[in-house]
Amino acid sequence: MKFATKAIHAGQEPDPTTGAIMTPIYQTSTYWQKSPGDNKGYEYSRGTNPTRKALEDCLAALENAKFGLAFSSGMGATDAVMKLLAPGDEVITGNDLYGGSYRIFTKIFTNYGIKFHFLDLSDPEIIRQYTNEKTKLIWIETPTNPTMQIVDIEAIGKIAKEKNLLFAVDNTFASPYLQNPIDLGADIVMHSVTKYIGGHSDVVMGALMLNDEELYKKLWFIYNACGATPGPMDSFLVLRGIKTLHLRMKAHCENGRQVAEFLKTHPKVEKIYWPGFTDHPNHNIAKKQMLDFGGMISIVLKGADLQETFRIASSFKVFSLAESLGGVESLINHPVSMTHGSIPKAEREKAGVVDNLLRLSVGVEDIEDLLEDLKQALSTPTL
Ligand SMILES: *Cc1c(COP(=O)(O)O)cnc(C)c1O
Repeated sequence: MKFATKAIHAGQEPDPTTGAIMTPIYQTSTYWQKSPGDNKGYEYSRGTNPTRKALEDCLAALENAKFGLAFSSGMGATDAVMKLLAPGDEVITGNDLYGGSYRIFTKIFTNYGIKFHFLDLSDPEIIRQYTNEKTKLIWIETPTNPTMQIVDIEAIGKIAKEKNLLFAVDNTFASPYLQNPIDLGADIVMHSVTKYIGGHSDVVMGALMLNDEELYKKLWFIYNACGATPGPMDSFLVLRGIKTLHLRMKAHCENGRQVAEFLKTHPKVEKIYWPGFTDHPNHNIAKKQMLDFGGMISIVLKGADLQETFRIASSFKVFSLAESLGGVESLINHPVSMTHGSIPKAEREKAGVVDNLLRLSVGVEDIEDLLEDLKQALSTPTL
C-alpha cells in the first residue's frame, strides 16, 4: 500500500462488535476475563488498549516497520530506548539535539552510569574514533533542531551494522511522509507524535517503530513495566490527525519553500537554515534521503541583540510565539530562551544556537498571509 492509503486505513478495520468505520475510543482501564487468564487479548490498559493498538499498527505502517509502540510523550519514548542500556554503556549522538533529549541524556542517564559522546556527525566517519567495546547505541536527529543540519542516515546505518551497534533515529522533524530511516538502515525510529504526526497541537505523544521482534519484546516490556503509555482519547485524536498527514506535509513543504525563498534575500536576515537550498552544506544528502524539505526554517537576525530579537519575535500576528512545531498553524520560537534553555551557552553556541536565532514552523495557512506577516514583523522599527 502507498503512504496516503496507509495513513487512512492501516491498523483500522471496521470495529468487530458494531461495524463502526472509525476506531472507537475504548475508554476502559480493564477487561472482562471469562476465567482467570482467559480473555480477548486485553487485560489492563497500561499494557494494551484497542484504540492504542490501532494507532500503533498505523504508526508502524507509516515507517514501513513491523511494530509500533505509542508513548505518552516523545520523551517517554526516548526514555524507553535508553532503558535498554546498562551502567558502563556508551552512546554516540549528535551535537545539535532537541533540548529535552540533551537534558534526559546529561541530567538523568549519566547518573545511571551511561556515557554520551556529542559529536558533529556531518562526517559520519567520526563515529569510528569514539566507538569502543562499551559503545551500544547511536542516536541521531535529522534534520537537526534548530539548525537543520542533515545527517546521512544510510552512511551511519552502515557503520552501525559493521560495529554491531543499535541505531535509532529521531525522525520528528522530517515526519514519516518525508523520510523513512528504517529503509535506510536504522533499527528504531522515534517520533514526537506531538508534532507533524498529530499535526493539530492538541496532543502530546511519542512513538517507536521497529522491525526486530526480540527488540520489540524488550521495548514492550519496558513500556508496560514503566508505564509511559497514552490513553485511548489521545490515541483516537492522533489516528484522526494521521488521516491528513500526507496532505498537510505537501502544504507545509510548499509554504516552507516560499517562506525560505522570501527570507533568504531579506535585509534583516543574516543567515538562513533550510535544507532545500542548493548551498545548504548537506543539500545533496537531504535530496537523497528526503522526499521534500519540510516546513522548518531557522534564521539569524542581522545585527539584532537579545532585546531586538525578543521585540521581533513578539511582533507577529499570524505566526504565534510558542514552543513546539508541526501543527497546521504557523509558530515562531526563540530557541535560546524557549526550547533550548536547558543547554549550556557554550554548548549551544558551538551548535549555532545564538541569541538572535529564531525558528519557524511554517503552517498550512494561506501563503500570502504568512509572507505579509513576516514582512511586517521584520520591518517594525526599533524603538
Ligand atoms: C518535541 C520533540 C521531542 C520530544 O517530544 P515530546 O512529545 O515533547 O515529549 C523530541 N525530539 C524532537 C526533535 C522534538 O521536536
